[in-house]
Amino acid sequence: MNKKTPFGINTTCIHAGELKDAQFKGAVSPLYMSTSYAFDNVAVKRYPRYFNTPNQEALCAKIAALEKTEDALIFGSGMAAISTSLLAFLQKGDHIILQETLYGGTYNFIVEEFDKFGIAYTFTDSMAIADFEKEIQHNTKVIFIETPSNPLMKIIDMQAIQELAKAHGILTMIDNTFASSINQTPVDFGIDIIIHSATKYMGGHSDILAGAVAGSKEHIKKIWNVAKNFGGSLSDFTVWMLERSLKTFYLRVKQQSHNALVMAEYLENSSFIEKVYYPGLVSHEDHEIAKKQMRYFGGMFSFELKDTIDTMEFQRNLKLIKSSMSLAGVESTLLSPSQTSHQLLSTEERASQGIKDGLIRFSVGIEDTEDLIRDIEQAIEKIK
Ligand SMILES: *Cc1c(COP(=O)(O)O)cnc(C)c1O
Repeated sequence: MNKKTPFGINTTCIHAGELKDAQFKGAVSPLYMSTSYAFDNVAVKRYPRYFNTPNQEALCAKIAALEKTEDALIFGSGMAAISTSLLAFLQKGDHIILQETLYGGTYNFIVEEFDKFGIAYTFTDSMAIADFEKEIQHNTKVIFIETPSNPLMKIIDMQAIQELAKAHGILTMIDNTFASSINQTPVDFGIDIIIHSATKYMGGHSDILAGAVAGSKEHIKKIWNVAKNFGGSLSDFTVWMLERSLKTFYLRVKQQSHNALVMAEYLENSSFIEKVYYPGLVSHEDHEIAKKQMRYFGGMFSFELKDTIDTMEFQRNLKLIKSSMSLAGVESTLLSPSQTSHQLLSTEERASQGIKDGLIRFSVGIEDTEDLIRDIEQAIEKIK
């Protein structure tokens, strides 16, 4: 299942799946916007909702190469990739186990839609493997994980989850958005279905909404069968933009991961920070598992400001770094979970999840770290 790629990672980013411009020999893949293709052979009917236009197929080949899988599909959003993949493998009467903390949109999809389909679900109490094991039922068909998780960057052991699932004939799915294909390839640990919000690191420039799923030919065929009915496909123009973004995927994410480590180490020693959550720090509770399964430790980390610092004022004082809901762009952004993603929970509920009111989630860009650190320092200085 784990497919060997003949090239190094940067060569793969740039050349895997590229379309040749036979007519003019242009350097980049030509963009085919057609929604109608004359056919010589009725067996091959190209149509964007069938995920088989030239640009769609080319991009899928690149993403499959990056995830070291046999095949891939791309969608109009990360949520289209997640919802379609889940409903391809679950039906009435089935049960799914999901990790305790998941991306908010995935959580909402489960709790707002699954009852309608008669699909049962359980969220685990923690990231411990034993907590997954104790939830397995005779009708459990899928285990769904996300690592690192948001916002505390907890890490789950992919190999251990996969072994547990396989022993019970259960399919494993991962949301690989936060780490990205550059920092971890879950198929190396036997995970079956790998999903991305390509809006984040794959796109990387905060200008594309897209999703992707990678896996074996057999699994992708199964997802395709459902996907063509749900219709969540991606416009060829966005496909072409995404192919362009992926050429610098490694360069961007490597720099973001490097910057995150520099920033996390700096902030950990800062007198105005209570705690830093970054899997690349030896102090992170899951650092050992992270070392086993990640190449670098990603561009996302969180930190707790000391109680004496007002988080709103801190954010207002920043000049370079913007407060923003999304993440993974080349520009650094941050947000306060207690005032945004976790705003609807009470302080006590948040505390039970380890989310203090002073917690800030940081998505590191590719700027110079000295400038980012200076921006944070001046924002704190102004408060004192
Ligand atoms: C953003 C995000 C999603 C959803 O992706 P969209 O492209 O916004 O639909 C899913 N999972 C994670 C971890 C995300 O950050």
